[in-house]
Amino acid sequence: MATIAPLNAPIRTLLGPGPSDIHPRVLAAMAQPTVGHLDPYYLRVMDELQSMLREVFRTKNRMTMAISGTGSAGQEAAVVNMIEPGERVLVCINGVFGNRLFDMAERAGGEVTKIERPWGEVFEVGEVKEALARVKPKIVAIVMAETSTGAWQPIGEIAAAVRDAEAMLILDTVTALGGIPVEIDNWQVDAVYSGTQKCLGCPPGLAPVSFSDRAVEKILKRPKKVQSWYLDVSMLANYWGSDRVYHHTAPINMTYALHESLRIVLEEGLEACFARHRRNHLALRAGLAALGIEYATQAGHELPQLNAVRIPSGVEDVPVRKALLERFGIEIGAGLGVFKGKVWRIGLMGYSSRQTNVLLLLAALEQLLAEQGHKFEHGAAIAAANQVYSSAK
Ligand SMILES: *Cc1c(COP(=O)(O)O)cnc(C)c1O
Repeated sequence: MATIAPLNAPIRTLLGPGPSDIHPRVLAAMAQPTVGHLDPYYLRVMDELQSMLREVFRTKNRMTMAISGTGSAGQEAAVVNMIEPGERVLVCINGVFGNRLFDMAERAGGEVTKIERPWGEVFEVGEVKEALARVKPKIVAIVMAETSTGAWQPIGEIAAAVRDAEAMLILDTVTALGGIPVEIDNWQVDAVYSGTQKCLGCPPGLAPVSFSDRAVEKILKRPKKVQSWYLDVSMLANYWGSDRVYHHTAPINMTYALHESLRIVLEEGLEACFARHRRNHLALRAGLAALGIEYATQAGHELPQLNAVRIPSGVEDVPVRKALLERFGIEIGAGLGVFKGKVWRIGLMGYSSRQTNVLLLLAALEQLLAEQGHKFEHGAAIAAANQVYSSAK
């Protein structure tokens, strides 16, 4: 066999829908020595991880932990534990991840009804209330930050309506957590999941989750076992709780990574972290406006960490993204579903949300859009972004 060369991964600037850039401190944490999953040192790391997760989720939920697997594993864990076969479920769909919730809820045996909004739009509390009255679900599932469309779904009023209807709420915060305020206890969310590789600035591989006491009680009372052995919260609880019963071998070094990324978020402070995401979004937005690029998301509901913008007419999607990657090392995201070929998704998530990246991307876009014959005032994008940064001081 020919000799295989060692890995030599290129350095990229990750400005897509995830994964996002990894803080060097997180990569360094991953290179620490692997210990056993029942080593007293590791148990301490788990305890610290749980307490930091409670802070970022803004919850006191005991059952707060990291599922082994990416965001989708957290999503599946929430769905298969909360939904019992035959239970009525309401899923709100306004993009790819709402659709995925629907698919998972059906697979879990739920009797699932969906309500839908066009891509880029968010749900009003009124239409959710109407559906609650009509469907009388036991469980409602909704996405807070729809990464396929850049839409920021307000949760507070909808969560209150779900509670009034005596249903339980599953909330997707994969792209939300660490980028915009997530208030699990204030909203009384029953099951929430996230991922490490979006706004937490950590490689993909773990899924933070949290279940309310009410939810845990429902799960422990299930007459029929959760069909997934790996994701069964009642068994995972025996490992993450004080019993420390072996369930599966925890991904030790991924846990180190998440531990360090949470330390970084909390060192900065959640409010400062949200403000940084917002400032970089406003600068990007001003720069894109100067290039004649508009948002594809319902006005007033644009996520700061995921900018879904319309590709200007006359500009080709694939050549621009290819040149961004090949000539500048920048990755941005393509449009999915109905946005395919029409929208770019520019992520400014976690450690990627930096002034350096905003200015680099705008400069690169000026060059590439000019080559495509797109008309705009040269230099105006950088000037507009700088204007936002200087007025923010
Ligand atoms: C990325 C994402 C997921 C899935 O996470 P993976 O880490 O890709 O498995 C689920 N929901 C939303 C809103 C996401 O953005």
